[in-house]
Amino acid sequence: MTDQMKAIVVERLGPPDVMEIRDIPVPQPGEGEIRIEVEAVGINFADVLAVAGEYLTRTRVPYTPGMEFAGIVQSLGEGVTHVKVGQRVACLGGSGALAKYAVVKATGIIPVPENFTGAQAAAFPVSYFTAYHGLKTLGRGQEGEWVLVQAAAGALGTASVQLAKAMGMKVIAMASTEEKLQLARDLGADVTLLQDDPDRVQKVREAAGGKGVPLILEVVGGKRFQESLDMTADQGRVIVIGNASREPADMRPVELMKRNLTVTGLWLTSMMADREATVAAAKALTPLVASGQVTPQVGPTYALDESARAFQDILDRKTIGKVVIEPGR
Ligand code: NDP
Repeated sequence: MTDQMKAIVVERLGPPDVMEIRDIPVPQPGEGEIRIEVEAVGINFADVLAVAGEYLTRTRVPYTPGMEFAGIVQSLGEGVTHVKVGQRVACLGGSGALAKYAVVKATGIIPVPENFTGAQAAAFPVSYFTAYHGLKTLGRGQEGEWVLVQAAAGALGTASVQLAKAMGMKVIAMASTEEKLQLARDLGADVTLLQDDPDRVQKVREAAGGKGVPLILEVVGGKRFQESLDMTADQGRVIVIGNASREPADMRPVELMKRNLTVTGLWLTSMMADREATVAAAKALTPLVASGQVTPQVGPTYALDESARAFQDILDRKTIGKVVIEPGR
């Protein structure tokens, strides 16, 4: 094995083309760590925001992006006994996955179901755990209840549609193109609506029995945020999960008061610190994965040297399902 590897390096924050492919030293696993040969990296909107310097936490440069990935354990650091060389594992958190090898803490790995490919394993944790917390932990979604899923053909969107259906909920899916809406229907969405339909507020309210939707997974933000409130039923819940528009949103708290609405923020990173909630989510998701009721929707895949294009395609809303980069390709 050589001591150099290909990796993406970001030295200054900005649009996706600030990402450069470089030769850097292969990382060595220290005590309690393992080195993984990266098979597949799941790319989240958060990665795009982090490279742009617009994420919830400060991005320190230089760095190698890639927070969610799967691969094969290649070597063990001192003291690691519960992981085997050759085992496929998934990892979440931190950075450094857009490279041939990545080193992570052995305690942080996630077991991969046998029926998952590397790409599926890399497409799972962020989207499905976030969807679960949005629908259930914080959204308190009930069987038979309506939920509105925005960006329904994206990584989080496809996870949310599948999971909501598996939980017996009724789904209104919104997305920007007919092709995206078709995927949402294929995954079980009951009603689909173009994001830019001029009558969208009224149509959403009518689809949910004329009173509005009791639960919205809000990921677009900006001026669409007020629309989400307008689509919500009295006493409804809006779970704020993202701000894909990258625009500021206005909120008039008095309006929440008048209609007894609840607006709740959701950030997976801080939810993961809640062990009880994480264990409950894993317990609920495991049988759904095993039975095939939920299957990660792997979207377009890219080679490592196409990373900037992959990120740009997400920003340009060209992608469907989870974008995956395969450094070994
Ligand atoms: P996606 O695969 O869903 O890609 C982003 C999608 O956002 C696009 O495909 C597009 O779908 C939609 N979108 C709507 N408006 C815009 C816009 N103005 N510019 C670009 N895209 C837009 O990405 P993810 O699944 O990674 O993330 C979806 C959202 O969920 C993001 O806002 C993300 O930050 C958030 N998220 C938050 C998490 C948390 O812990 N809080 C965890 C995971 C995701 P369309 O064309 O159909 O409108």
